[in-house]
Amino acid sequence: MRKILMTAAVCVCTALCGCQNAGGEYKKTVFAMDTVMDLKIYSENDEPLLKAEEEIKRLDAVFDRGNENSDIYRINKNKSAAVSDETAEIIRKALDISEMTDGAFDITTAPVTDLWGFYGGNFRVPSNEELNAALSSVGYKNIRLDSNKVSIPESFSLDLGGIGKGFASDSVINILRGCGVSSAIVSLGGNVQALGQRPDGEAWSVGITDPDDKSRLLGKVKVSDKAVITSGGYQRFFEKDGKTYHHIIDPKTGKSAESGLVSVTVIAESGALSDGLSTALFVAGLDKSAEIWHKYGGFDAVFAENNGNIYVTEGIADTFECDRPYSVLKK
Ligand code: AMP
Ligand code: MG
Repeated sequence: MRKILMTAAVCVCTALCGCQNAGGEYKKTVFAMDTVMDLKIYSENDEPLLKAEEEIKRLDAVFDRGNENSDIYRINKNKSAAVSDETAEIIRKALDISEMTDGAFDITTAPVTDLWGFYGGNFRVPSNEELNAALSSVGYKNIRLDSNKVSIPESFSLDLGGIGKGFASDSVINILRGCGVSSAIVSLGGNVQALGQRPDGEAWSVGITDPDDKSRLLGKVKVSDKAVITSGGYQRFFEKDGKTYHHIIDPKTGKSAESGLVSVTVIAESGALSDGLSTALFVAGLDKSAEIWHKYGGFDAVFAENNGNIYVTEGIADTFECDRPYSVLKK
């Protein structure tokens, strides 16, 4: 991995100004997938927002493993189920990300997540025996996906929490585009996806939360037609006996990932890829993440380490705004 240390320079957005007549600004806040979602579009009317909201609620029902009518609930209960095209698609995407990241992303971590109480909210620290027993029911290679039929071993369960919001933001952007909207930005619980440019022709500026102080920004990236999705241990955690336990699980240990990273932001065209990868790279750590980036490309990333170091991949380095020093990862 070649790292070139650069002194921070505040980068000024250089997007060309090609002003469009995008209509009026319409906004909507939706509560779904356990989070607050903010949608903003430029359009002739608010109809596309109503369609987007419908889509979010529909996908929430399809993917929520606690909803008895969802495909995921049926898979987890019966261990085998015929599922909708989109459930098959999201599972296929999740498996691709598992392969890319050597299992750092794994939607079979549900039994472990449940032990820690991250699903349901009854937080506790499980014993090593409990964790080892649960880990025998973890392993994405055990998922069988044959066209629209999904099956998992008896003790296994699936959890799409690491990829569902990104998949949903892809769907919302497609719905908006289908309605003729060419300028929009959606934030699904902080997972941002931009459609086109701002109405003034500038790129969208998306802030990345400072993991050490949620009221501040670590930096900003400028994007058009991209998702900007962050995973961080600071987003969901509990404390016990002076130790912090967060919701991103290393599938190899069954414990909160301790890779040295405190936040990973992935910027890519696909929300599902950005979401799954940000979770996976958080688990993988900086060096392995850089290898994955070198090998596959197709995304950019901002990494924050627990020692305060910040790294950005070269594709976004030109438009990354940050008032702290950072390093640029080069191909
Ligand atoms: P995110 O906020 O997108 O990073 O996803 C975190 C959520 O994904 C957790 O709350 C769990 O539901 C689930 N999860 C935790 N660890 C993993 C993992 N290693 N691979 C896939 N999903 C995970
Ligand atoms: Mg994720």
